Amino acid sequence: MAEGSSKKRHADVLDSANGTQGKKKISGHWSQGLYASMSDPDMIVESDDKVVVIKDKYPKAKHHFLILPKENIPNLKSLKPDHVDLLKHIEKIGKDVAEKTDKKLKFRYGYHAVPSMSMLHLHVISQDFNSPCLKTKKHWNSFTSDYFVDSKDVIKTLEKDGKVVYDLKENQAFLSQDLRCHVCKKPQKNMPTLKEHIKQHDYSID
Ligand code: AMP
Ligand code: ZN
Repeated sequence: MAEGSSKKRHADVLDSANGTQGKKKISGHWSQGLYASMSDPDMIVESDDKVVVIKDKYPKAKHHFLILPKENIPNLKSLKPDHVDLLKHIEKIGKDVAEKTDKKLKFRYGYHAVPSMSMLHLHVISQDFNSPCLKTKKHWNSFTSDYFVDSKDVIKTLEKDGKVVYDLKENQAFLSQDLRCHVCKKPQKNMPTLKEHIKQHDYSID
């Protein structure tokens, strides 16, 4: 379980996803770690007047970035109808970064329905999932099940409903679902088997 928590909290659903397990509290709570990375020159990839692009500190694929708004928006629940343009901008910057980084690999752009880190962040992640940081079933399911909500669907929901709220229990269930390859959907016994299996697939853009 992550540092700073003795009870099971909703933020722990990804437990080690953040690489914060067992870490000593240095400054502030571990869930605030993205604030520090947003101003760390070693983590920043680029920025403009509205957003900062950082490297994910524990990348779950060959390329994994986070796009954060400079405006203080703690999470999806804090979004207001007038944030639609900002979300579109975040997605556009995410796609630009992916294109600049690797023109061949497929990427997805999305949000965790129940994030563990504070500060709204879009995941920009290549679909090879080739990374030593990708270790657990929860990691896998958080990026390959409906727990990972595509940016375009978040934007559609905000446009339609004026808010974005995902059910905690329903989404937690995605994290414990059986392992399956994200490409051919073949069931996988465990993470080592899955990681070996996914090597055979081609993650290039068609
Ligand atoms: P989530 O909150 O579930 O959307 O995921 C948070 C993401 O932040 C994970 O992919 C972590 O690997 C990543 N992460 C955790 N701590 C940091 C940090 N200090 N700087 C950058 N990325 C981080
Ligand atoms: Zn497969």
